[in-house]
Amino acid sequence: MTSAPIDTLLSNLSTLAPRSVMIANDIHHLRNLRGPQELRNRLEREGVPRTTLSFYRYVRLIDVEALRHTLYQEWEALGVLGRIYLSQEGINAQLSLPTANLDAFRANLDSRGTFREVPWKIAVEDDGRSFLKLAIKVRKKIVADGLADDAFDVTNVGAHLDAKTFNRKMEEGAVVIDMRNNYECLIGHFEGAYLPKADNFRGAIDEVVEALKDRKEQEVLMYCTGGIRCEKASAYLKHEGFTNVAQLHGGIIDYARQLKAEGLKSKYLGQNFVFDERLAERITEDVVSTCMQCGTKSDRIGNCHEATCNMLLVQCETCAGKYADCCSPSCREIHQLPMEQQRIWRKGRSTRSTKTKAINDPEGLRQRIREEETILAEKGTLHPELTVISQKPN
Ligand SMILES: [Zn+2]
Ligand SMILES: [Zn+2]
Repeated sequence: MTSAPIDTLLSNLSTLAPRSVMIANDIHHLRNLRGPQELRNRLEREGVPRTTLSFYRYVRLIDVEALRHTLYQEWEALGVLGRIYLSQEGINAQLSLPTANLDAFRANLDSRGTFREVPWKIAVEDDGRSFLKLAIKVRKKIVADGLADDAFDVTNVGAHLDAKTFNRKMEEGAVVIDMRNNYECLIGHFEGAYLPKADNFRGAIDEVVEALKDRKEQEVLMYCTGGIRCEKASAYLKHEGFTNVAQLHGGIIDYARQLKAEGLKSKYLGQNFVFDERLAERITEDVVSTCMQCGTKSDRIGNCHEATCNMLLVQCETCAGKYADCCSPSCREIHQLPMEQQRIWRKGRSTRSTKTKAINDPEGLRQRIREEETILAEKGTLHPELTVISQKPN
């Protein structure tokens, strides 16, 4: 590595102190303290190839807080960046690390009984910039599934299918269920799959149970990004009386790897939505979605560039130019203000809300755009309050 970050220095220093003392004193160092641009620059300077991978395991973990701090130190020293959830029920990790450290990372995982030989899935499309920082979070659950685990047998999961078997069963006419949220299914999914409209796991699973309530004997194939959500979803469906439930082992990520390795034909069309800086990885060249603003075929996905909106968008190149990467004329007007005025306007407004509502109602978005264009043509602005802002002294 070209940069010798202060964290390395700190973690070297910290090995001199007994671990318990170090943890008591230096916990505040065990998290990222840098801004996004600085993080981007750091990744740029690093100049080594990175590998993006993910894994999960449902396993009983004890003293999760202490484990979190230890893992942070050990993995940071290996150059790991990513988002890792730990809980008493296990680990769910998405991360990238210098490819040269893969063996050392494997050894690190295998050194713990709880993570020994945990299978990982390597991303098929990777520019090495999937994650900017390392975040290890302690949560109640490793997936926010909204299910009461004590109400059903979470270990009674569906049969785990490899890509080849999954394809064959699709051809035999099994029902295919996408267990992801609406915005994930949008730009890619299995041919003919049922795509839930809900934007959260709990909503999606209720929707599936309702939609298939008269077909509980039929074979159901479910899939998600990396397989973790199907672990719970398949057990829940069985609890609900479904008798023939199977799930795609390793999810879409590993399906893509198996396609390449075995020369199989993909029944998954388009892109796989991922939860990192890449947003998506391409599985096939098919385009299964349309631009939310003009309706032409497109699977170019992004967020509205107006920071307080941040709405997830499928937006074609033409509309991106027309609306300055924003969802609407209203957001475009703010986004095109001088930085200083944008800052004043943003004050007190949340920047963390990711609105996804246009996904189920793109026509509603188009209607809003038409209305805004009309007002804009009449009045020259969609934000009359901006005249006050521009008069404010800096
Ligand atoms: Zn468009
Ligand atoms: Zn917007």
